[in-house]
Amino acid sequence: MDHFNYIDGVLCAEDVPLTKIAEAVGTPVYVYSTATLTRHFQQLQKALDWTDHLICFAVKSNSNVAVLKVLADLGAGMDVVSGGEYARAKAAGVPGERIVFSGVGKTEEEMRQALSGGIRQFNVRSEPELDRLSRVATDMGLSAPIALRVNPDVDAHTHEKIATGKSENKFGIPIAKARAVYAYAATLPGIKVVGVDMHIGSQLTDLQPFREAYTKMAQLTRDLRADGHEIIRLDMGGGLGIPYRRDNNAPPLPIEYGQVIRETVGDLGCEIEIEPGRNISGNAGILLSSVVYLKEGEGRDFLILDAAMNDLMRPAMYGAHHDIVPVLEPAVAAEVSAFDVVGPVCETGDTFEKGMELNRLSEGDLVAFRSAGAYGAVMASEYNTRPLVPEVLVSGDQFAVIRARPSVEEIIARDSIPAWMAG
Ligand SMILES: *Cc1c(COP(=O)(O)O)cnc(C)c1O
Repeated sequence: MDHFNYIDGVLCAEDVPLTKIAEAVGTPVYVYSTATLTRHFQQLQKALDWTDHLICFAVKSNSNVAVLKVLADLGAGMDVVSGGEYARAKAAGVPGERIVFSGVGKTEEEMRQALSGGIRQFNVRSEPELDRLSRVATDMGLSAPIALRVNPDVDAHTHEKIATGKSENKFGIPIAKARAVYAYAATLPGIKVVGVDMHIGSQLTDLQPFREAYTKMAQLTRDLRADGHEIIRLDMGGGLGIPYRRDNNAPPLPIEYGQVIRETVGDLGCEIEIEPGRNISGNAGILLSSVVYLKEGEGRDFLILDAAMNDLMRPAMYGAHHDIVPVLEPAVAAEVSAFDVVGPVCETGDTFEKGMELNRLSEGDLVAFRSAGAYGAVMASEYNTRPLVPEVLVSGDQFAVIRARPSVEEIIARDSIPAWMAG
């Protein structure tokens, strides 16, 4: 459920007509709903209310500081994968003890930043990373709390580019090696083992892979305790999917997901962390765009929008589908035809979808890409010198620009001509 609905024939974000935002800010523009972010967060809270827990929002899915602040004010922690994301979480007012540092290639500088600013735990992926963290923390006279990211070798049944829990993926320590690496970690100065971490992939629409992974996690936790480690926290990762199509089977509910966690690891007395990104932010955002041209081709018609692959990369990168709906509600009996929906970038890949069934639209009409709040704006670029897509946050009948569209002059001013070429 989200808060993008037609009111009096106009698609609204909460109580704000999208036509009003398009007029004020122009298109393309991302629009987020505070009420939807809040609702999704609270559903996950409820799903885990049987235990001590912390929901660490995956900042990489939507890192706008205003979005982070909505969640931080509700008590969320943050899961960050870079020093930049760590700084964003801090800027949103999140205390260090609610920030988990994941990420595949943490640098020494990032480790120092997190240790001095405060950190809940590092999710460590490899032995070389353990060695480095031990050196950095010892050097600073501090102790770094860690969980090891364990790869359970479970098939997440999701898109190959977002599956991370099979043994052939680069992510984490193979479960068969985990006890040995924990034993090694326990010998290192400046390292304090606190937990176990897993993340098996993204956009999972079935609970079975979670159940398999968490069952392995429970056994590993028992083994590690038998080995003398004090395991107080379990980080279950993110990955719970969302409905990208209105018409197909809904993925599992947060409450069902919480139940799987309870059934698999609930008896271990550990504090539970989860790292949802998409499940909170995905359906809390749309990408608002307008029709530039309607081009009737041979055998196929093209709908050319002012949004492109540089604004919303998921279709080009993952072959992902986003429902596209007109902002002005079509009549019930309105004619539907098939379009290739494309952007204006000079790439064949700049195709959002081929043969999409849409109501008849004309130049200047507004459309909304649904489910664009996660992995949308964060992946945007300025390819073709298209200004970075702006972002708007709505709350009730208010809206505010939370990232402004840069002017072309500002974009050009970031470049500089070397002295030897000047004059
Ligand atoms: C990407 C990622 C997440 C969030 O994934 P979602 O599918 O958006 O929930 C959580 N944890 C880690 C370690 C990740 O890499």
